[in-house]
Amino acid sequence: MRAARFHGAGDIRVEDIPDLPAPGSGEVQVKVEWCGICGTDMHEYSEGPILVPPALASVTLGHEFSGQIVATGDEVSSLTAGDWVTASSLLHCGACFHCLRHQPSVCSNLSILGLSRDGALAEYLNVPAWACVRIPEGLSPEEAALAEPAAGAVRALRKGRVQVGETVAVVGLGAIGLMAVRAARLVGAARVIAVGRGDFRKETAGLLGADAVLDPGDPSFLERFAALTDGRGADVVVELAGSHDSLELACELTCNQGRTVLMGVFGRPVSVNATRIVTGEKELIGSCGFIYDEEFAATVNMMADGRLQLAPLITSRIKLDEVIELGFRRIHEDKRPHLRVLVSPR
Ligand SMILES: [Zn+2]
Ligand SMILES: [Zn+2]
Repeated sequence: MRAARFHGAGDIRVEDIPDLPAPGSGEVQVKVEWCGICGTDMHEYSEGPILVPPALASVTLGHEFSGQIVATGDEVSSLTAGDWVTASSLLHCGACFHCLRHQPSVCSNLSILGLSRDGALAEYLNVPAWACVRIPEGLSPEEAALAEPAAGAVRALRKGRVQVGETVAVVGLGAIGLMAVRAARLVGAARVIAVGRGDFRKETAGLLGADAVLDPGDPSFLERFAALTDGRGADVVVELAGSHDSLELACELTCNQGRTVLMGVFGRPVSVNATRIVTGEKELIGSCGFIYDEEFAATVNMMADGRLQLAPLITSRIKLDEVIELGFRRIHEDKRPHLRVLVSPR
């Protein structure tokens, strides 16, 4: 079968690999319909291996996908061939300290589809049945491929304990930041302020429900932000840009006794003005991934019933054989914005 495999930085190849074995006990085999290329994949492409274990000579990328089950292994009763599914990319061990406390997002032996084991930029993949969520009526397989990143945005808001009526700011308007804007609306934020650069991203933030969209490069940015928050700052700020400056900014924009949720991918250690955190009694909260039967399953359902509409985030659709040229290389080199490029192996 055809698969897009990571061999090293700048070296992703679409190649023929041996057909998969039949799904093992507890697993299903999925014929992939759509798979997104995410920022994590781009990091691997430009400077990897980062999350790909160095011991792996190569791995099939792709962890945001949808498809149809073509075979089921022993001990699978909840799903059958023909079912349309999407699946959690985070495969916890089920046996470590955190797993036993139902904290699988911080499992000590976490393996990640498309990074530490073969993923969905391929015609088929085998996944544990427990990781799958059936795609409900009303949700297209195309949009279902966005559920995985969207679940991360939903978790960030949950970790921020957003209350009805609060003000939420999102710093960093990549695809997940934009999903967080949409999800903030959903959880009852009275005001959602999107903070980021780039006309297309800012426009999309407006489409997804931001009440105000501010550019941190605007000389009157702080003044305008203060005016929107009665001079106090936002109750919850979600940081998704992953840089020293954006972290400083996110902490600064958080009101006293407010919560700053960090979800950005920081390439290196960064510092914060700790005195402002202490004197303002602010909380810094990390958020990473999601829990398969909590945020992930809930996100699929909220997408299906129309409460979490994310279609504006799909910016192009390409074939697996075009994934280098029109996917990785173009996203890497293009100045034009790409939010989600979806890849079809069919
Ligand atoms: Zn991703
Ligand atoms: Zn575990």
